[in-house]
Amino acid sequence: MKYAWSILPEEWKPILVERGLRAFRADQILQSLYRDYISSWDEATTLPKDFREDLKREFPITEAKLLETSESEDGTKKLLIGFADGNSVETVLIPATGRFTQCISTQVGCAMGCAFCASGSRGVVRSLTADEIVAEYLIGRKFGEITNIVVMGMGEPFANYEETMRALKLINAGKGPNLGARHITISTCGVVPGFKKLAAEGIQFELSVSLHAPNDALRSELMPVNRKWGIDELLETCAEYTTKTKRIITFEYTIIKDVNDSRACAEELARRVKRVPMAKVNLIPLSPVDHRPDFKTPDEKTLLMFLDVLMKNKIQTMLRRSRGKDANAACGQLRLRHIDKV
Ligand code: SAH
Repeated sequence: MKYAWSILPEEWKPILVERGLRAFRADQILQSLYRDYISSWDEATTLPKDFREDLKREFPITEAKLLETSESEDGTKKLLIGFADGNSVETVLIPATGRFTQCISTQVGCAMGCAFCASGSRGVVRSLTADEIVAEYLIGRKFGEITNIVVMGMGEPFANYEETMRALKLINAGKGPNLGARHITISTCGVVPGFKKLAAEGIQFELSVSLHAPNDALRSELMPVNRKWGIDELLETCAEYTTKTKRIITFEYTIIKDVNDSRACAEELARRVKRVPMAKVNLIPLSPVDHRPDFKTPDEKTLLMFLDVLMKNKIQTMLRRSRGKDANAACGQLRLRHIDKV
């Protein structure tokens, strides 16, 4: 048994053959799944009934339910999606001019334990399977045509590499939903082995790296992952990645008042990031989280100072604003923000 939404288009034929099923039906199966977007094999009426029964048995469609929707005034929607075992994840839909971005989760909770992140504060329950990640996307697209995906929801994608990559390849596949690779951004907190694997895929997914601090002392305090892979090793890995793939890396820097917002931090960040070819920086004011009332959003002056220091150092930098604050205020794990494409 294999879930239908975990099978890449080119895998259908051999898998059908292996089971003694009619391989010539592969294209019809793909059309039902990714042109008609069926959510049950009973809806695949182009296929004979007995064959549909085979499909139900051998390739069930993942059970995923939309449990809750909350919408904010700016049009951002947060969806809660429940799976068969009772676990649930959030996915966020962010409309912008000419763009409809979905932020997806790859794990229930997160093991990384970043101090400012709500989902890390409760540890990880389990990783999502590829078909569950695809299910998240398919529920999202019922709200409109998704133009971009950011893997910035709950979980660390490089800690669930295989399933995440399978899901993204499926969503990207021409005979699947066909969402362009350059419209899919993976965000990692810096799980170093993931970079080499991603570079070896030869797919043009975008990569973001959550940096949030310019040196080991501060970064290890905010992000426990830094105790395993320190900032020098991480940035060296990033430089290898951009050199090998000729693709940019965007560093995310969440600014927390009186924690990582000094001019010295900005200058150190500029010095460090300069050593990575084709690096960009996104500055994001912290979204307050319930479990750390001591972490506050920086004021406008600090944001502009940070921006100024980086720009003076000729680093391509963007200041991001949070989106969907009213409906999603308590949520620190799904960052609601506006993501522009290069
Ligand atoms: N684990 C991955 C992806 C999920 S987190 C990663 O770390 O990149 C997505 C982004 O949201 C990360 O940059 C993360 O640091 C950021 N984030 C988490 N909590 C936040 C908060 N309270 N305010 C602003 N950004 C936050």
